[in-house]
Amino acid sequence: MSRQVFAYILHKNGKADDTALELAAAARRLDANAEVTAVVVGAGPDLDKVAGEVAAVYKAVWKIDNAALAYPVADVVRKALVHILPKGAVVLVPHEHFGLDLAPGLSIKLDAAYVADALDFAGMDGDSLTVVRQEFSGMVSTHVACDLASGAVITLRPGAFQPDETPAAGGTVTDKSGDAGDLSVGRRYLETVAAEVGDVDITKSEILVSVGRGIEEQDNLEIVKDLAKAMGADLSCSRPIVDAKWLEKSRQVGTSGQTVSPKVYLACGISGSFQHMGGIKGAPFIIAINKNPKAPIFQVADVGVVANILEFLPELTEAIEGAK
Ligand code: FAD
Repeated sequence: MSRQVFAYILHKNGKADDTALELAAAARRLDANAEVTAVVVGAGPDLDKVAGEVAAVYKAVWKIDNAALAYPVADVVRKALVHILPKGAVVLVPHEHFGLDLAPGLSIKLDAAYVADALDFAGMDGDSLTVVRQEFSGMVSTHVACDLASGAVITLRPGAFQPDETPAAGGTVTDKSGDAGDLSVGRRYLETVAAEVGDVDITKSEILVSVGRGIEEQDNLEIVKDLAKAMGADLSCSRPIVDAKWLEKSRQVGTSGQTVSPKVYLACGISGSFQHMGGIKGAPFIIAINKNPKAPIFQVADVGVVANILEFLPELTEAIEGAK
């Protein structure tokens, strides 16, 4: 019997997250012969829109429509999934804040293996899947053997699995709402607090010059601002810059900051943590400047420059101004 793989689809305002395509690519990489089913949970017309969108990518889509799922609370979603997922299922979940809330507990409820933050699959031997992960902030790459015999829940780092050119799947949507059981739990959704929008809305920027802890001192920010001005770019940053109160929170890129989708992302002195990279969507052209050739950001950068930003950025600004 072929392996049953399920992809948990994140969505918002009636639109599937970019990771929906990445999960489809990861499922194929895991086992090209697997039966892959997308699972979408939510409530009302928005859910139907998402299910339709996802059916263009996945041949099979299961939806659970329930008012208790109008906002995704991990406890409630877990309860629903435990009712519908078959024994031995392999469940792929995006490694972002909701996925991190959902996945570990789900693996316990399903009595399945759990692997977090997978970057790649390096092969399968029988039921033993080799999962590639990173340790020590990306300085070390590890191979983890995951036994799929009793099923597994695996979270995948957003951006790690490149979506394929997926042909229109013309998938079938199956309504599993009736099988989801009683979804009453102690936790409930109260409200969404929108992030503050500062003088610049970086979520709309086409070119971002982003600065990280490598800038060393607040006064050095001027050289990054000069570069951004020369490039006609907006300025964004990693979290340590906001924590130090050098730039406002509305400029922070990442899972606890803004989600951006520029055409070009120039990362200056940023290591490339998953919390930072998780805020970059839409596969922009990434240029990374970092003095450490082993910085994890170079693994995702289209162009990498090993240099001291304090010396390189003023030269780059001068060269751009000179070329104008
Ligand atoms: P570092 O990791 O310290 O990297 C600095 C880099 O600069 C290094 O690679 C170094 O080699 C390089 N460097 C140093 N000096 C120079 C120089 N002179 N020239 C060139 N390169 C130099 N982080 C975010 O960014 N956004 C988030 O939304 C976010 N959310 C988080 C949520 C949670 C729950 C947690 C726990 C963490 C979160 N973080 C977030 C923090 C995240 O884990 C990292 O700590 C952070 O992204 C690191 O920022 P950085 O790359 O600027 O700093």
